Order: sequence, then C-alpha cells, then structure tokens
Amino acid sequence: MIKVTCLGAAGSVTGSSYLVENSRGKKVLVDCGLFQGGKQIEQRNWQDWGFDPKEIKTLFLTHAHIDHSGRIPKLVKDGFQGKIIASPPTAELCQIMLLDSAHIQEMDAEWQTRKNNRQGKKGVLPLYTMEDAEESLKYLSPVERDQIITVEPGIRARLRNAGHILGSSIVELWIEEANEETKIVFSGDLGKQDQLIVKDPHEIFAADYLFVESTYGNRLHRSFEDSKEELLEAIKYAVSHGEKVIIPAFALERAQEILYLLGEFYRDGSLPNIPVYLDSPLAIKATQIFRKNKKYYDEQTRAIVDQGFDPFDMPNLYFTPTTEESIAINENPGSAIIISASGMCTAGRIKHHLKHNLWRPGASIIIAGFQAQGTTGRKIVDGEKSVKIFREDVAVKAKVFTIGGFSAHADQKDLLLWVSHFAESRPRVFVVHGEATASETLARVIKEKFALDTHIPRWKECLILKPREDIVEVATGDIEPVDIRQTMLNTVIDLEKKLKKLKKRLKKEEKKLKISNDDVNRLEYIQEELREILPE
Ligand SMILES: [Zn+2]
Repeated sequence: MIKVTCLGAAGSVTGSSYLVENSRGKKVLVDCGLFQGGKQIEQRNWQDWGFDPKEIKTLFLTHAHIDHSGRIPKLVKDGFQGKIIASPPTAELCQIMLLDSAHIQEMDAEWQTRKNNRQGKKGVLPLYTMEDAEESLKYLSPVERDQIITVEPGIRARLRNAGHILGSSIVELWIEEANEETKIVFSGDLGKQDQLIVKDPHEIFAADYLFVESTYGNRLHRSFEDSKEELLEAIKYAVSHGEKVIIPAFALERAQEILYLLGEFYRDGSLPNIPVYLDSPLAIKATQIFRKNKKYYDEQTRAIVDQGFDPFDMPNLYFTPTTEESIAINENPGSAIIISASGMCTAGRIKHHLKHNLWRPGASIIIAGFQAQGTTGRKIVDGEKSVKIFREDVAVKAKVFTIGGFSAHADQKDLLLWVSHFAESRPRVFVVHGEATASETLARVIKEKFALDTHIPRWKECLILKPREDIVEVATGDIEPVDIRQTMLNTVIDLEKKLKKLKKRLKKEEKKLKISNDDVNRLEYIQEELREILPE
C-alpha cells in the first residue's frame, strides 16, 4: 500500500510538498515549498512536519521557485541529511533563491522583534537563517533529466522537462510493491506551450496516479503576440514623454523573459535607444545562471545564440547590483527602462522607482505578472488614485499597462493537452496547486473530457493508493467553455450548506464530530481566503 500525504499546495497554490511512503515505510518527498500570502497561511511554515526529517533520504525538487523550495533550510535544520535531487539549473538557481529567502526571513524577524520590543514583548527568531540556508545547499544533488535513477530499494524516479522556468521538472516515480509496479507522476508547475527560453513540457503517456497543478485550471491566457505589442507600446509611450518605464518583475524567469523580449526588439530595430537597467541583485544573479545554462534553451533561444547574440543582452543594458548604482538611476533625467523586484511591488528596490516615477504623467508602469490582493501592485492595477509607499501617499499619474500574456504557467487549454496524453493509461488524477475554483473547474473538465476519476485533496490529506478500479467509458466532445461566475456561485452554495450543517452539529455538541486543532486551522484558512476574495 502506497500513501501520499499532501503537505502543501493542496487547496492552495503555495507550500508545495508531498510525502510518498511505500509499505516498507520508505519515504520520499516531492518539493518542500514555503507557504506564502498572508499571516494565516504562513503560520503553516512553523508547524510540525508530521514526519521525522531524519527518515527522509530523498527530496525531489521540481524547480527553484520559493513556493516549491523555500522550506528546505528548515527541513535540514530539523534533521534532513538526504539527497536533494534536482536538475542542474534548478540546483544552481536554488542556491541564490534560498540565500535570498533566508535574508528575507532574517529581516522580517528583526523587524518583528523591534516592533515587539517597543510593546514590551519578546523578540522572535527567523524561520531559518543565512547559515541554515548555506548548510542546506550541501545536500543539493544535481541529476540530469530523462534518466531513471534508483533512490531506495523498490523506488525509481526520473525528472522530465516541465517547461515552466529554466530547469523545471516533472517527477515520474515508480514504486514496486509485491512484484507490482505503480507509477505516480507529479507535474510540478507546468509551463505553457511556446513559453520563452525553455522547451515545451515533456509529453508523458502513462501513469497510475497523476498529480497535476491547476493554477490556471479555469482560465485561458491572453495572446502572447498581443502582449508583446503592448509591451513595446508602453515603452514608446514613456519615451515620447521623455519619462521612465518601470517594470516590476519577479527576479527568477519573468525578469529574464523581459530582457529576452527587449533583446528581440533591439535586434529588429524597434527598441528606442535608451538605457535599460536590471536593478535587482537577485535578478542579476539569476540572469547570469541563465546565460551559463545554454544547453537547456529551446530551439528559438538557441537560434539567437547561434546567430552570435546573447538572448539576455543588448548594447544599452546595465546591471546595477549596488545601492549607489540603483539610486543613481533616478538622478539621471530622461527616458530609461527599469526592471526591478519585487514582482508585486511589496518590497525591494521597485518601491524606490515607483516613488520617483508613479506620480509623473508620461511615465509607464508595466504590470506583467500576477498581483495578489492587498499588494501595492494590485492597487495600481485596480486603478487606485494614490498608493502608500514608505508611509507616503504617492499619486498614480503614470500610465499603467497591465499585460496579461506573459504567464509562465500552463492555462486550461495547455493543462488539458498535457493530461490528454495520459488518457489511455487511465490514471486517477489528483488536482493540486490551485485555488478552489481553479482546481474544481479543471477536475470537472478532466472528468468530462477524458472520463478520468479526479479528486482534489485537502491540505494534510493522506491518500491511500489502492489498486485501480475498472475503467469507465471515454467521453467524447469538445471542452465546455468555463463559466467562472457559475462555478463560483455553486461553490458558495455548497459552502453555505456545509457551514450550516457544521454549525448545527457544533451547537448540538455532537459526540460523533471529532474536532482537532487542524480543523480549526482549516476553517480559519477558509476565512482568510474569503477575505482575499471579498476585501473590506
Ligand atoms: Zn513555479
């Protein structure tokens, strides 16, 4: 009997982590991500693992994004001494990402301690320190994709390209039990078709159990070509006013994609002759890793290299790692393109650039990435007249360009295409890594289109992988268009019913209803999520 416990990215998009255990008690982990997005959910980072990290000999890391890798230093601090199997670029990117994450953890703890001290309370410790992160890097064990490795007696694995960011992988796992082999596939984060820089996700044709992400399970992306045009238009707008172009970008992948596109504009002669600054130490380091790892590029990116160009370079590009260089950017009058982090404008140098430029009519602000509720980036997208930056109200007079087509995630169409290859092998599908509506929609469409059995696991749910039952008929016909509003309404009605029932049973103090602390956490989590949808 094989067990899979969903320790993260189940019913949410962050904290990715799955514990797989065979009947001999051998355990492997797939991902060890940080929970992100508000106090309530981030509490989970501090909770007990639910297993002994010392017992784990193998951790498969799908990619370097912090929501998949960011709890690794804590895992090592708590006793893990096994191998972290990742593709070579993932291992390299993970080093800079974990050190950066540790720095943020230390800064947050310092800030909280000062705040607590002022209130006469005790200080707090960071989730992990730079030292912990440094220590955890020792366990990174790069393995090329596409080769089968044995990690425990009876457990074999293979990494495949996931096409999401440089080095990102799908994990295929084979577990042998009583002479029968079960294959489990974890999609990790899947890229869209024709994603810049990286190759399309590897097509896999067989699995007994499939864990598929559903970040955009209910959405279709806007056209990439249109988005490219919008990007150029936004640059030309600011240049025509002699003002700056500000691009908040995630340091890993989005920043390199923007550089790639600017490089393309430069080569076809459409990029105005102005300086381009990459103003984020983490993005600079990530770009250097991208430049080194040419063998993982897709055909189009390789072709640029073969023509003698660096896909992430152009004559006017300046890297500004130091604070002095960063400050100097806004002291120079005239147009420039500034790519800086954080991607949601909540921290980092981007705040300085917004403070200097947001109030200037004629400047361009390009929002090309996901902006969570409550972030400065989201407020700018939502058209607020002014936003608070460093406790100061800054008027939004610059033109805001929200460009929707640059996502590094597969949309519903891409996800269905990838899942379709498994259809003949009839896996049971677990839909993970998505907000409720996205996961529910994708699960429903997979069921309708491929007649596969689907399930959306809850956080901490333990799945017992039993021998599969017999096959139902395959449905035919086209994909039904997604009606988000109706799906949302159905979910609300269902939730209302369940809450009413729960209230009744709680009032009756029903003995059959066993409540644990986890249940309280789960409910509080729902409450927090509702606040995100329906802000005060
Ligand atoms: Zn990712």
